[in-house]
Amino acid sequence: MNWFGESWLTPMCDPADRVATPAGVECAHCEEKIVAGDRGVFLNGDPRPLHFECFIRGVIGSVGHQKGACPCYGGSEDDPPGATRRKAARAAMEYFEEHPPEPFMEIRIPEQQLKDIARVVRRVLLGLLARHQNN
Ligand SMILES: [Zn+2]
Ligand SMILES: [Zn+2]
Repeated sequence: MNWFGESWLTPMCDPADRVATPAGVECAHCEEKIVAGDRGVFLNGDPRPLHFECFIRGVIGSVGHQKGACPCYGGSEDDPPGATRRKAARAAMEYFEEHPPEPFMEIRIPEQQLKDIARVVRRVLLGLLARHQNN
């Protein structure tokens, strides 16, 4: 997995995998263009970049998913109504940081994301939690 922008999580951000920020290219999740200063990743084998928060949204799911209130759990909540995809991704990341799961709690990952991210998900989540605790 390649990454760009400011380094955020040491175990995940191997300097050898850093690439130039793909300014002007659309994010595969929110379809907003990447701009200078954004942080993000290229998942393995995907030529399209993802904002960091859009990537995290794919890992941890929507706010509704984290609450256990989305269709995966028989509910109907998902991303906050009216939010752009990118804002919803930020909201999902903030919700996760404000409601850190118990250690070793099972985190259900939306199925379509599993293939690409299984390898890095644990390190990402642990990094986010560590950052949360340091703040
Ligand atoms: Zn995005
Ligand atoms: Zn869900």
